[in-house]
Amino acid sequence: MNYEELGLKVGLEIHQQLDTKRKLFCHCKPDLIEEDEEDVFQRRLRPVRSELGEVDIAALFEWKKGRTYIYHAPRSRSCLVEADEEPPHEADEESIVIALAMAKSFNSNIVDEVHVMRKMVIDGSNTSGFQRTMLVALGGSINVDGKKIGIETICVEEDAARKLKEEGKFVHFKLDRLGIPLIEIATAPDIHTPYEAKKVALRIGQMLRLTRKVKRGIGTIRQDLNVSIKNGAKTEIKGVQKLEIIDKVVEYEVLRQLKLLEIRDELRRRGVTKEEILNQPIVDVTDILEKSESKLVKKALKLGAGAFAIRLPKFKGLLGKEVQPGRRFGTELADYARFWAGVGGIIHSDELPKYGISEDEVRDIMEKLDCADEDAFVLVLAPGYEAREALKAVKERAAAALDGVPEETRAANPDGTTKFLRPRPGAARMYPETDVPPIVITEDMLKRAEALKPKNPAELIEELMTIYKLPKDMAEKMISSVRFDLAYRLVKKYHGKLHSTIVVRTVVDTLKELEREGVEIEGIRDEQIEEVLDKVAEGKVAKEAIPDILKKVAEGLSVEKAIRELDLDKEIDVNKVVREIINKYRDEIEKRGPQRSFGFVMGKVMAELRGKVDGKVVAQAVKKALEELEGK
Ligand SMILES: [Zn+2]
Repeated sequence: MNYEELGLKVGLEIHQQLDTKRKLFCHCKPDLIEEDEEDVFQRRLRPVRSELGEVDIAALFEWKKGRTYIYHAPRSRSCLVEADEEPPHEADEESIVIALAMAKSFNSNIVDEVHVMRKMVIDGSNTSGFQRTMLVALGGSINVDGKKIGIETICVEEDAARKLKEEGKFVHFKLDRLGIPLIEIATAPDIHTPYEAKKVALRIGQMLRLTRKVKRGIGTIRQDLNVSIKNGAKTEIKGVQKLEIIDKVVEYEVLRQLKLLEIRDELRRRGVTKEEILNQPIVDVTDILEKSESKLVKKALKLGAGAFAIRLPKFKGLLGKEVQPGRRFGTELADYARFWAGVGGIIHSDELPKYGISEDEVRDIMEKLDCADEDAFVLVLAPGYEAREALKAVKERAAAALDGVPEETRAANPDGTTKFLRPRPGAARMYPETDVPPIVITEDMLKRAEALKPKNPAELIEELMTIYKLPKDMAEKMISSVRFDLAYRLVKKYHGKLHSTIVVRTVVDTLKELEREGVEIEGIRDEQIEEVLDKVAEGKVAKEAIPDILKKVAEGLSVEKAIRELDLDKEIDVNKVVREIINKYRDEIEKRGPQRSFGFVMGKVMAELRGKVDGKVVAQAVKKALEELEGK
C-alpha cells in the first residue's frame, strides 16, 4: 500500500506509569496488590451539562447503558482521596521532575507553573467522574531515522482504576491503580507509515526507560493512536498494550477506512439515500421464526425474546464485506447494537442461511420486509424494547455508511484489529481543579530533571563502542531493543568482568530467540537475567549454558534450581571427557592426523558437555590432548 498517496496521518499518545514513591495526589503506595483487606462501595455516574450547556455525547452514551460501578478499595493501596471523599493532596513533585527530564530531551517549552485540570471520565474508571491532569511542557521534537517528529504536549496525570470484571450492568473496579502517576506524551500527526508509528513509539518508550524512573512490564505502558487517511476520519484507538503490534493496528485501521470508503461509493452508486435507510420500519418477525429448528432462535424465544428485523435497502453483499481480518461490515453494525442496546449481537442476511435458520425462513422474512433483490436485512433476537433500540442503532450506523468513516473511539484487540468503543467525545472537557494549588517550576526541579534526562542515541552508540568495546552492529541493535535499558545497565555493571558482547547477546538476542521458539519470556525477570550473568562472570557457569538456564527460568524455576536441574553445578573434569572422546574416536583421529582433528574433537566434546563448560577451556584441553597424542 502506498501510504503517502493515501494521506495517512498518525499521532501517538503514549501513557507510561512512573516509578515514584507515592501516588500523584495522595501518599498511598503506587503499585498493584492482589490480596488485601478491602472496602467495597458503589456509585452511579450521571452526565452533567458543560458550561456551554451541552451534554457530552459520550457521557450520555455511557449513562444510557444504566451502569452501576462497584469499587474495591484495598486498604494498603488506597485512602479517602481515591474514594473521592477527601480533596486531593499536593501533587507529587518527583512525577513532575520526570516529565521535565523528558521535556528537556525533546527540547520542549516548559511551563512556568503547572496547573491541575480535570478531564471528564465517563466509563466509571475514576470515582470522581474526572481524571486530574497537568500540562508540563509543549512543543519540541524527536528524531527518528533522520526524520523530525513533533511533540505536542507532555502531561502528568493520574492512572485510572483497574477494571476487574463486568456482570450485567455492574462493573467492578479496583482502586489500587487509581492515582498512580502517568506521563502522557502526545506526538503531532507527523507519522506517515505504520512502520514509522512503531519506530516512534519504540524510541519514546526507550527514552522513558532511560530515565530509570518508569515501571516495566505488561500494563505499565499504553498507547493511544489517532489514525486518519484522506477522505476518511480521525479514529482514536485506545489501549494498545504491546508496542510490537502498533504497525499492525495502523495497517488494519487504514484497511478499515478504505473498505468503508468503498462501501460508501458502492451505496452511492446504487442510489440509496440516508432518509430511505432511516425510514425503515422495525418489523416483528417472531411469527415466522416461531417454529424454527434453529437452536439459537429456540433458546432466545424461550427466554422471552422476540425476533425483530429491518430492511437495509440496497445493502446486499455489503454486510458480509470484510473490513479487517475476521471482521465484516456486519460486525461494525453489531458493535453499535451491542453498545447502544446491550444485545448479544445481530444476524444479517449476508450470512444466512446459518445458525439453523432455513432458506425458507429467510425468504419469508424478506417477503415480510418487502425486500428486493439488492436489499439486505438485519435480525435481532431480544426483548422488544432492546431489539428496537438495537435496530435503531444499526439503522443509524448503516445510514452513516453513506458518509464513509464515522468519527469513533475504538479499542484495540490483541490481534491488532479494533472494535467500536464509543463515539468520539466532544472537545471542551477540561475544567480547572481548584483543590490543588499550581506548582511553580523551580531551578532545583530543573536541575534534578537534568540528571534524569535520557541521552540521545548517537551519543549512546559512541559510548558503547569506545568505552565498552561493543561492535557497531551490536551497539545499534542494542539501541533499538525493547530491553535497551536493562542491557545498558548490565553492560556497565559487568565492565571489566564480562565482555559486553556476552551481555548484549543474552539480553537482546537470546531472549528474542527463545521467544521465537515459543518460550514464555515474560516469566523471566530482569533480576534473574542478572543472576545468570553473575554466575557466568564468577566462572560458575559457561556462557554457552545461558539459553538453557533461561528456558528453565521461564518455566518458573529459580536460577539456582535451573542450574541444578541442568547438572551445571557439578565439577566437571574436562580433561577426562576429552580423553574419553579421543579414545572413542581413536581410529578416525589417527586417520586424519591429530593436528587436523581439532575441529572434529572440539565438536564432539562440546556436544557432550552441552554448554556446561566454557568453549575456551574446552579448546585448551582438546589442544593439549591432541598435542600429546601427536607426540606419542
Ligand atoms: Zn490514597
